[in-house]
Amino acid sequence: MLAWYRVRLKEHGFLVATPLLLRVVWARISAALANKFLSARVECPCCGWEGGRFFDYLEVGCTARGVECPRCNSHPRHRAFALWLKGAYRLESRSGTALVFAPERALESAWESAAGLKIVKTDIEPSRGVDLLADIQRLPFAHDSFDLIWCQHVLTQIPDDRAAIREMQRVLRAGAGKLIISAAREARAETREFGRADKRHLGFWRVYGEDFAARLAEGGLEVSEVGHGVSAQDCVRYGIDSDEGFFICTKPASS
Ligand SMILES: [Zn+2]
Repeated sequence: MLAWYRVRLKEHGFLVATPLLLRVVWARISAALANKFLSARVECPCCGWEGGRFFDYLEVGCTARGVECPRCNSHPRHRAFALWLKGAYRLESRSGTALVFAPERALESAWESAAGLKIVKTDIEPSRGVDLLADIQRLPFAHDSFDLIWCQHVLTQIPDDRAAIREMQRVLRAGAGKLIISAAREARAETREFGRADKRHLGFWRVYGEDFAARLAEGGLEVSEVGHGVSAQDCVRYGIDSDEGFFICTKPASS
């Protein structure tokens, strides 16, 4: 919590960071009390935690009630992906080489279940337990290296996202390789570009619009939008409040 506060203090100053810290502490105390006295109604498929309610997620410019797993910090999209990877995608039976960007702690057990997959975890920062540091805009891999590329909610934080898309296309294995990707989107036609890492928008360079798929296609990918396919009953059980959808992209064999 102290490290978390120091980062906000540095980025936003005392007058923003301290009230936020107090709100987070209060939210954690009330959620802990609720979980002590309420019967288990929700469950995290990432880590197996069960309880009365998930924690609130509070950040500068963002408040989401009852979304975060107290044990593994999963959010609804992580839980939806955990179910999809295990169910529809059958991750445990996959083989080949996978490149995972900004590996989410909540999906650690999912990747560990893929015994036949050689996984390379990468990020631009050393804090996520990665195998190597790499800039997604300039990847240190040969063409057609990966059977699977995993890139969730990364591109909003990249200055030149078109360069990143071209790089992922380059290292994806032509024909059979799959890029599985999602990003923060909103219901508007065009992507909003901020021109910098905007502190008021979680440090994002942009929020995508309905043109996200077109931007992926510009980078030489064939793009299909997919839903997680979680049932209404499981959405309640696992705290998944929406099916935001994601994209599975391939590179034509001739490119
Ligand atoms: Zn969890």
